[in-house]
Amino acid sequence: MTAAKDFTWPEEFIPPFADLIISIVRDWADKEVMPLRRRIDEDWEDGRLYLPPLKKLLGEYGMQRFLFPEDLGGMGMGGSNYLSLLAFMVFEEIARADSGMDPPLGMVFVPLLFIAAEPHVNRRLLEEFAPMFCATKEATYAALGMTEPQGGADIENVGLIGGSTITTTAVREGDEWVINGHKLWPANSGGLARLIAVVCTTDPGSSDPSDIAVIYVPGDAPGVTQGNVYEKGGMASCRNGDIWFENVRVPLWYRAHGPGEDARCFAEALALMNMGSIAYATGAMMNIHERLLEFTGSRMYRGRPLKENDAVAGVLADFTANIEALRILGYHSARMCDRPDLYGPRWSPQLVAKTRAHRYFAADRCSEAIGRVMNLMEACGVDRDWDVEKHWRDSSILHFMFGGKQLCQVEVARWFYGCETI
Ligand SMILES: Cc1cc2nc3c(=O)[nH]c(=O)nc-3n(C[C@H](O)[C@H](O)[C@H](O)COP(=O)(O)OP(=O)(O)OC[C@H]3O[C@@H](n4cnc5c(N)ncnc54)[C@H](O)[C@@H]3O)c2cc1C
Repeated sequence: MTAAKDFTWPEEFIPPFADLIISIVRDWADKEVMPLRRRIDEDWEDGRLYLPPLKKLLGEYGMQRFLFPEDLGGMGMGGSNYLSLLAFMVFEEIARADSGMDPPLGMVFVPLLFIAAEPHVNRRLLEEFAPMFCATKEATYAALGMTEPQGGADIENVGLIGGSTITTTAVREGDEWVINGHKLWPANSGGLARLIAVVCTTDPGSSDPSDIAVIYVPGDAPGVTQGNVYEKGGMASCRNGDIWFENVRVPLWYRAHGPGEDARCFAEALALMNMGSIAYATGAMMNIHERLLEFTGSRMYRGRPLKENDAVAGVLADFTANIEALRILGYHSARMCDRPDLYGPRWSPQLVAKTRAHRYFAADRCSEAIGRVMNLMEACGVDRDWDVEKHWRDSSILHFMFGGKQLCQVEVARWFYGCETI
């Protein structure tokens, strides 16, 4: 087995307690996920296999408390300068076993980031939701309701079109918001979500970002319907589905912040999701590296282990070079998200564009690199016993979660080339 630190590692940035967190998550992955991961694809609907390890990680080990302040029972990471870096490390270790388990954790973090990450902390809402996440050993799932039937990328394209395509509405009535709309794809939907951060508009059709609202809705509030789980080609341990909101009423103060600030928090969440998804790729690739060590060390060609052949060694080196480069990229991306004093606010168009570039570059390299490994392994590449085909299917999803590649490209071009109409 290759340890996380065998690959390039930003030693000078890592907080002292990171080693402990990594070893806990690695141990969890090895014991709780690795032995069952080949059967997870068939478990997509029931979750009998993948929900217990997630419960352990979120509830028993307390990952769902990560962002809450310590005085509310949390781990206090919302104000940490290592927030993104630690999240990256944890996502990477999870993805080494099953990147489909990253969004379930990621989508507990992201909806809470809006109110827990410095500088925009909403203490009243944190106090309201802390018992749900911090006073239990059961898993508590949150969800981010962003994508809609007319398309997800447009909703994330805040820089160009504001919230003009959002059709989920929040109407103020007295001291309540009344929410109506339909969201697709939220991770942790399909009945799991206990708290949903809903991206909606207070003025349909408006392209003014001030009209974008992020409002919290309990998953079991009257008028909320969580549909069936989608059957996907990969990431089976991530439950996605429809969520409908029909005259759902929540208190006015369930809005994350207010006009302008909600849109900034949403942009910030996009930057962090871009950064985090790089870890989904590098974690999977680190595990493929382990499997390749075994495969090319045990399979023989002309009487020698496969890895002792020049052409094969070249493929192995290329694969590892990709891991090295993507890890450096991912860790630096995380560092940029953690240091707004040096790199600008996380919600800035500049940081969103840069993390979009990092993300689609990583997804492309990951796909290409795993494709070459599949080719090297021939029939064993698609044999479930070698796990590579699972990583291949799971990681192909990285291209289109959180806005597709084209959205990434236009946002990069917009920032770096001043494009005004795309
Ligand atoms: C595993 C998984 C987890 C997910 N989790 C969540 C979640 O937690 N919450 C949530 O809300 N959603 C989630 N999604 C949905 C995801 O964010 C959307 O699929 C994504 O934003 C793309 O939206 P879409 O599928 O509607 O495609 P569309 O936006 O309809 O895009 C269709 C095509 O048009 C292209 N396109 C779009 N805009 C442009 C443009 N401006 N210029 C050029 N081409 C463009 C796209 O790249 C794509 O090729 C998840 C999806 C997956 C697969």
